[in-house]
Amino acid sequence: MTRTLTILGATGSVGEQTLDLVRRNREAWQVEALTANGNVTDLARLAREFGAKLAICGDEGCLPELREALAGSGIETAGGAQALCEAAARPVDITVAAIVGCAGLAPVMAAIEQGGTLALANKEALVSAGDVMTAALARHGATLLPVDSEHNAIFQCLAGNRIEDVARITLTASGGPFRTWSFEQLEAATPKQAVAHPNWDMGAKISVDSATMMNKGLEFIEAHHLFPVGLDRLRIVVHPQSVIHSMVEYRDGSTLAQLGPSDMRVPIASCLAWPQRMDTPLAPLDLPTIGELSFFVPDEARFPATRLAREAIETGGGAPATLNAANEVAVAAFLAGQIGFTRITAVVEDTLHRYSAPAPQCLDDVLGVDREARVRASELLEIA
Ligand code: NDP
Repeated sequence: MTRTLTILGATGSVGEQTLDLVRRNREAWQVEALTANGNVTDLARLAREFGAKLAICGDEGCLPELREALAGSGIETAGGAQALCEAAARPVDITVAAIVGCAGLAPVMAAIEQGGTLALANKEALVSAGDVMTAALARHGATLLPVDSEHNAIFQCLAGNRIEDVARITLTASGGPFRTWSFEQLEAATPKQAVAHPNWDMGAKISVDSATMMNKGLEFIEAHHLFPVGLDRLRIVVHPQSVIHSMVEYRDGSTLAQLGPSDMRVPIASCLAWPQRMDTPLAPLDLPTIGELSFFVPDEARFPATRLAREAIETGGGAPATLNAANEVAVAAFLAGQIGFTRITAVVEDTLHRYSAPAPQCLDDVLGVDREARVRASELLEIA
């Protein structure tokens, strides 16, 4: 039976890996909409290859180029933020949310409103909207499947168990490319070094987040919303091999872990096939070759991001949205060569100190906090 699919952020790392799985089993899928921001060439190529009904570019200025690239194909085109939401609102069996950053939030909320299944990679949307998003999921009867490898692992380890029986959830972290670097070395780290992740091949923003450990901070907040066991039952452990993707410990002393190759096609496949399984081109783990698995407590003196995320979720209100927005601004500035690596978390911390954001009650409130936090963080960049 054919299932319908929309991919928000189809030209990115998660989007392309999703389409790689679809490509291997074309007859199982009918692609409804594919979206990008400004990468019109790849969007048009993918829309033609997969026979999408609709192709959308978030950057409205790129629409004429997209129209030209898809002329004669019969594929509908549109551009701009509102067009992204309209595409996301079309009913489909599964929507893969793979836009990077809070820019993906409004389309994610539009997808939730159509009440289908949402495979969420776009963690910044859930971090920013938190309770607003979980309330919308419940109101519209939508199903959220986590694509993030750690949350997908936890989701799998929870299957068939009761959340009340969970003693602790452990999120594993690779520690990123700078795990063993001194603070002095971190101060001199370049964007090129930061995006060279030892285990995962990802987009630039999440690669920098992995290097600062803010990725794990965002994931801590994401886990708090997805798996409501209480903050004291959530912990982060550094596991450099990225073989165990996370673990759930139960009150009887059993710990369930999910293991797999460091390849996002594994958690993506788990979402696409859920509640069944599907083939992937990946070889199973060869544990004797891997040899050893090691674990460490995170060093929050060198990598303060996880502390900032924990404090933001404890503060509540608009603090998580502020943390996320300030981080997006600081990471963009780092990638553009405007600030040093260690300034990223400093800008996030200063923004949180200077802006006490109100608790958002709806999507517009979240977007308001996001906008204001970006202004405050940008002001701090000037002071740097
Ligand atoms: P990429 O940067 O590779 O891709 C981002 C996608 O979003 C692209 O399609 C891009 O379009 C689109 N996009 C960017 N900005 C906008 C905008 N303002 N409006 C509309 N579309 C936009 O990111 P990743 O695939 O690495 O990450 C996507 C999400 O998944 C992130 O939230 C990340 O944290 C999460 N994630 C990623 C993992 C990975 O392995 N990559 C692992 C786990 C989670 P264009 O190409 O035109 O710029």
